[in-house]
Amino acid sequence: MRTALVLFSGGQDSTACLAWALDRFERVETIGFDYRQRHSVELNQRAEIRSKIVKLDPAWPPRLGEDHMLDLGLLGEISQTAMTRDIAIVCDEKGLPNTFVPGRNLMFFTFAAAIATRRGLRHLVGGMCETDYSGYPDCRDDTLKAMQIALNLGMEKNFIIDTPLMWLDKADTWRLAESLGGSAFVDLIIEATHSCYLGDREHKWDWGFGCGACPACQLRAEGWRKYRAE
Ligand code: ZN
Repeated sequence: MRTALVLFSGGQDSTACLAWALDRFERVETIGFDYRQRHSVELNQRAEIRSKIVKLDPAWPPRLGEDHMLDLGLLGEISQTAMTRDIAIVCDEKGLPNTFVPGRNLMFFTFAAAIATRRGLRHLVGGMCETDYSGYPDCRDDTLKAMQIALNLGMEKNFIIDTPLMWLDKADTWRLAESLGGSAFVDLIIEATHSCYLGDREHKWDWGFGCGACPACQLRAEGWRKYRAE
């Protein structure tokens, strides 16, 4: 049986990854992490997205299995970043934004692999992307390939880390969503997913909810405009 565990935050990218996994694996489980992110509102969207996404394709309901929610509060406690503290978003001299949480994705995959071992799941699916990303070194293809090797050596397993968005830009991600679940899935992403770093769900745009100004909102809005222009 082809099985997968999807790193599912409730954001646009991980929601696209969940549909991608439901389309090709026979059993799909999800995992989410509470690391005291300022936009923890994204976690509240997870149940709604899970219940609605399976309605997009009659083959999907029996494939979607358990959800795992992990408390990684310690990561928020030790991180001095704009993702976990109420401080302004700025870039350092190398262009790395202070929304970068050191070790975050490495830790996510380590815990995901531990859960996947217990649940007998082989593929670990994440929405990391190198194309128009925010410059996070733990979203790089090389980082995740190295992570796969480290996990397999360190846990004596044969995990496969899948990153279906790695070489897509944000317009491509909207396109991928449309190809997987049609306009109903595009609407679900607009209405239910959350990407804004500031956790703003008061302001609604044609691409979804958010402050409209933070780097996550800007990326999402720009991708939407490019996608709609075609
Ligand atoms: Zn925002």
